[in-house]
Order: sequence, then C-alpha cells, then structure tokens
Amino acid sequence: MTTIFDKILSGEIPCDEVFSDNKCLAFKDITPQAPTHILIIPRKPIPSLQDIKKEDQELLGHLLLKGTEIANAAGLESWRTIINTGEEAGQTVFHLHIHIIGGRKLSWPPG
Ligand code: 5GP
Repeated sequence: MTTIFDKILSGEIPCDEVFSDNKCLAFKDITPQAPTHILIIPRKPIPSLQDIKKEDQELLGHLLLKGTEIANAAGLESWRTIINTGEEAGQTVFHLHIHIIGGRKLSWPPG
C-alpha cells in the first residue's frame, strides 16, 4: 500500500528535509508536537515494527544512529525517540518512522 511517506520519498510531495542518504530520509513533521519534531524513515517500505525481519537489523541500527546525529545537530541535550506501532499505539502512517521530539519538557507517561 502506498503511503504519504512513499510520496515524500519519491519527491511527489515536498518535505522540509533534514538529512538524506541511500538508506533513509529525515524531515520535519508537518504537525510538530515540540520545537524539534523530526521524522526519520527508511527508504525501504517497511509498514511498521511488526514487519521487521532479521535482514533489517543493520538498517534499524542505522536509523537510530542517524536519530542521535540529527538530535545532536539540532542542539538537543534531551529528546524522545518514538516508534508508534499499530493503530492503538497511535500509528497513522504505515511506513516505519522514528519520531525525534525535543526542545521542551516532555511528560511521562504518554497518553
Ligand atoms: P504516527 O502517528 O504514524 O506515529 O506519525 C505520523 C506523523 O507523520 C505525524 O506526526 C504526522 O504529523 C506526520 N505527517 C503526516 N503526513 C505528513 C506529511 O505529509 N508531511 C510531513 N512532514 N509529516 C507528515
């Protein structure tokens, strides 16, 4: 199933790009929940964490490493890394994505 993120990856829909390489794309969330809210998505169309395979291990590590680099580049000392998995958990786009959220005090537990 084609998602809005496939269209962002193909350039059909624009995004505010933060980082790009041959494995992933990072861009600003269109509805930021904090002063910094960046999404990191793999170029590979994996719908969610429920669908990851052993072969995705290196890719997932790459996404997390990029998340830290991107958070550091944004000047964050604290941030939250979120991967919503499934509708009940709040996933609305079924192309795996990592949220990097920071720049304000974040409460816990999440709603
Ligand atoms: P989820 O709720 O699936 O974990 O996160 C999806 C995120 O994608 C939401 O935070 C939403 O604001 C963001 N989003 C949805 N459509 C677009 C879009 O077209 N452009 C950008 N930059 N972000 C989007």
